[in-house]
Amino acid sequence: GDAGVPGRVRVAVRLRPRNGEESVADADFGDCVELQPELKRLKLRKNNWESETYEFDEVLTEFASQKRVYEVVAKPVVESVLEGYNGTVMAYGQTGTGKTFTLGRLGEEDTAARGIMVRAMEDILADISPETDSVSVSYLQLYMETIQDLLDPVNDNIAIIEDPKTGDVSLPGATIVEIRDQKSFVDLLTLGEAHRFAANTKLNTESSRSHAILMVQVRRAVKGRHDTELNFHGENGHTSPLVSSFRPPIVRKGKLVVVDLAGSERIDKSGSEGHTLEEAKSINLSLSALGKCINALAENSPHVPIRDSKLTRLLKDSFGGTARTSLVVTIGPSPRHRGETASTIMFGQRAM
Ligand code: ADP
Ligand code: MG
Repeated sequence: GDAGVPGRVRVAVRLRPRNGEESVADADFGDCVELQPELKRLKLRKNNWESETYEFDEVLTEFASQKRVYEVVAKPVVESVLEGYNGTVMAYGQTGTGKTFTLGRLGEEDTAARGIMVRAMEDILADISPETDSVSVSYLQLYMETIQDLLDPVNDNIAIIEDPKTGDVSLPGATIVEIRDQKSFVDLLTLGEAHRFAANTKLNTESSRSHAILMVQVRRAVKGRHDTELNFHGENGHTSPLVSSFRPPIVRKGKLVVVDLAGSERIDKSGSEGHTLEEAKSINLSLSALGKCINALAENSPHVPIRDSKLTRLLKDSFGGTARTSLVVTIGPSPRHRGETASTIMFGQRAM
């Protein structure tokens, strides 16, 4: 995917460092991948002698800082949202490879650890004018084709509405909270996480089985031509109430959707995890539909099967077209998970 072209998916791969357990258990083995960040290449080992090489828009090693990850993965999307476009940032990968670390870390104890959601809000709040502009958020969970409000969990069957004229997607049942400062945003994410944990305990499922979706709506008053018109009519540059009531301010809207996707690992269809076959299929539905849409976009196919799942319907106005989309695929180093790592890498490759 080309970084500068809207409608293409920009794909980065991020490697998690070895964790304590892997350092011990895999001590005698090399990592299943070798990264060449300057060449934007990744080598996936087949055996001791052979490897397969893949190229990405960005290759982020285990030493990449959260700041750098934000800058290459999310910042261009956030900037275009501030200019009035829609955009999506998604993390895809096996459970335990760093999706939530990348997107959702709050970094309250250590600001360097902050993830993409918090950094994006910080950039948005720094850029808007509090007198004329607004930023509001919704936070949702999508599990088995059902959308639940993480800010008000009794709302557990939220509908997706598409405006037939503009194509804008909205969720009329979802809580929308206006954000004025960074702290209230972090508090809201904390609340949403607590609700997510409680809801999943009740459903007897893992949070890795559901998608967490943050929607950020930015509304800005357009300055320039309109101001001069008001000044022309007003006295000494003041706007007369009469004139402004006839001329509502022009508003520029941009929407950012951040999606912490369900774990990409295969769900055991044998039922040993307590899932029925139907559940296993439904849990995977949105993720496989997303893959099909991303492939269609990459291949410039006229048919993007957006209606096949709730996730893709929700992303309809924030994906393709004039929207900017950034995907970070997260992988672990362990040779024991080479199969899952290979399939994550292929998901990323098909998006480009
Ligand atoms: P996922 O959301 O994909 O299931 P997590 O983000 O929860 O994975 O990460 C799993 C574990 O690995 C967590 O303990 C997390 O702190 C750690 N981790 C993930 N990515 C990194 C990283 N880049 N650097 C250090 N630790 C990481
Ligand atoms: Mg997670």
